[in-house]
Amino acid sequence: MNKNANPIDAGWRFDNSYVRLPEELFLPQNPEPVAKPAMVVLNRALAKSMGLDADALEAEVFAGNKIPPGAEPIAQAYAGHQFGNFTMLGDGRAILLGEHLTPAGARLDVQLKGSGRTPFSRRGDGRAALGPMLREYIISEAMNGLGIPTTRSLVVVTTGETVYRDTGLPGAVLTRIAASHIRVGTFEYLAATRNLDALRALADHTQKRHYPDLAVESHRALLEAIIERQAALVARWMLVGFIHGVMNTDNMALSGETIDYGPCAFMDTYDPETVFSSIDRQSRYAYGNQSRIAHWNLARLAETFLPLLDDDETRGVEIAKEILGIFPERFESHWLGGMREKLGLFNAESEDLGLAGELLEIMAREQWDFTNTFRNLNPAAEAPGLGAWQAKWQARLSRQPQTIEDALARMHKSNPAVIPRNHKVEEALAAAVASGDLGPMHRLLEALSNPFEDASEKEHYRNPAPAGSETYQTFCGT
Ligand code: AMP
Ligand code: MG
Repeated sequence: MNKNANPIDAGWRFDNSYVRLPEELFLPQNPEPVAKPAMVVLNRALAKSMGLDADALEAEVFAGNKIPPGAEPIAQAYAGHQFGNFTMLGDGRAILLGEHLTPAGARLDVQLKGSGRTPFSRRGDGRAALGPMLREYIISEAMNGLGIPTTRSLVVVTTGETVYRDTGLPGAVLTRIAASHIRVGTFEYLAATRNLDALRALADHTQKRHYPDLAVESHRALLEAIIERQAALVARWMLVGFIHGVMNTDNMALSGETIDYGPCAFMDTYDPETVFSSIDRQSRYAYGNQSRIAHWNLARLAETFLPLLDDDETRGVEIAKEILGIFPERFESHWLGGMREKLGLFNAESEDLGLAGELLEIMAREQWDFTNTFRNLNPAAEAPGLGAWQAKWQARLSRQPQTIEDALARMHKSNPAVIPRNHKVEEALAAAVASGDLGPMHRLLEALSNPFEDASEKEHYRNPAPAGSETYQTFCGT
């Protein structure tokens, strides 16, 4: 182990609990070295928060050419329902280097994505192209800026090699930082192989690692807590117009972080049927379907939990149904709570759901931009098109003790001025990939790191793409 140890101490502190789990969960696998590693972007703020010395971090480590001290590289086994169909999967182009312990005491997965073939690669080449890896970097950091739980992006390096998709593209590796990579699909994998001991071990590991504060340590309580976190997460997505795009069960992390930024994007014009992903032909993962799909995915998770819930299968099914039944109410509660903030409301009234719904109806009918409509709402200024709704909202605001200024301050903290607009993301990627100009990307990242701030220079990022470009499509990061 570690014969390639990096002589420079960059601050890595690995403690790898996953490799102490039952062996069917992973395969030891080193990344495949590449021709010519070169740093493209390094997240200095994230490195610092992880206790890493950014200046001592080398491209060789992030390309997989050098294994940092203490890392124990593995490919993780998992399965998943992809567009509704069950498949055995696993890390086909990712390597988990290990778990790094931060000075604040957090345990973080350090994963290379695009680092070469593994036994789970099937027909894939194990590689990734620069554009999609930079895209994941931008969107995940945007989500973090919005305060939404997400995996993070530490580094993107180029490999000096060409990857072949429809055409030859520059190869790259992304270093992804996550609370863990335990997925709904990880449980599905163990359930499919009927490995009850391993399933129990993974459940206990998940509980200790992600839900250490559970009052009752039981598998039932764990399942409830996971459901609660997913309800909160998907509500947060909905409140900023985020569309994940490929909510397969292998892309749902039990930590409650957003994971796997493939064909995701933020909606401009409000339309619940919006789909960006070119492979989602049935609109399964449309904006407005996301809570239903999360519920469906959690039902797949609950099925794997059945033997943990009760020795008697019938009773286990009853318990699972009961727990799953809480999801719609939990989702709506998180969503409505967020909507109240977006509307400047501090307390709850029973008509609030209707008030939010009516605004969304107007937005859909008028084809308004989701982000800008909320950002521009102002109880003190009559907005054309809002008509009777504005009066109703004003009356509602006047029934709470807070002032209009208080309401506006609250609204500005939850209605972002800046989101990663598709055309701006594409612009930044085109400059970076085609001409090696990282300026636009760094400026975009800067704006996205503080999306609620009202700086005038952010105007540049506020407009949706000009009309006619609504056919924006995203592609899986293959
Ligand atoms: P994703 O759609 O990115 O969630 O990936 C679904 C599955 O395909 C996962 O098991 C990936 O590891 C695998 N995969 C995606 N792209 C590649 C690739 N280029 N080479 C090998 N496996 C891949
Ligand atoms: Mg995936």
